[in-house]
Amino acid sequence: MREVSEREITLEGEAVAYRLIRSRRRSIGIEIAYGGAVVRAPHWVRVGDIHSFLLENANWIRRKLETWRAARAQVRPEDWRDGGFVRYEGQDLRLSVFSSRTRVADNDLFDLRIGIPKPTPPRIRDAVEEWLKNGADASFPERVVQCCARLGLAAPAVRLSNSRTQWGSCEHHAGRSLIRLQWRLIQLPPELADYIIAHEVSHLREMNHSPRFWTTVAGLYPTYRDAEKRLREMAPLIEP
Ligand SMILES: [Zn+2]
Repeated sequence: MREVSEREITLEGEAVAYRLIRSRRRSIGIEIAYGGAVVRAPHWVRVGDIHSFLLENANWIRRKLETWRAARAQVRPEDWRDGGFVRYEGQDLRLSVFSSRTRVADNDLFDLRIGIPKPTPPRIRDAVEEWLKNGADASFPERVVQCCARLGLAAPAVRLSNSRTQWGSCEHHAGRSLIRLQWRLIQLPPELADYIIAHEVSHLREMNHSPRFWTTVAGLYPTYRDAEKRLREMAPLIEP
């Protein structure tokens, strides 16, 4: 049985949020994700002992957190002002923000022009995210169709998701299939988004991660191992 709680500890003077997951395991494990720590521990270990363990590893945890934040700032600067940057298809577009009664959102190779009434950071963010979602909507379904055609499969329905843990998912039932793609995929280099599409489309044929599944993936996308590795580095883009 798994038991999850959200906690906090002060490490080297910094309050660090952590998620404690109790399960049937034999030792304590730590990883950095979601801008905090995830601690896995057996049911029988006392919280005091977990804290001692975290304090012993405080330096390692703080360094890993720094790395996570730097990666996050790189892919998601969250700098919602004129002159800020937003990642789009693997490139940084410079935000050009102006006040406009009619809404404007268009881009060239270098700039994303956002015209909205009374631009404030939250409104700029909303307008940029809407533009990104529209871009995802305009781009992904067609790419899924093309990928399915290569396997001789009928194209499924495609929806955008806002998942914090998955770039994509696939449901496959007789006569009704659905692929969900995280809208922030549009922020990745297009060849990485194509890998996720190839991965989910391959699930229409194999609903598992068996050797047969990976053979199908490799047929569509030979360098999938490299893509998997690069995607792990991009996880801070969708983690909350
Ligand atoms: Zn999969």
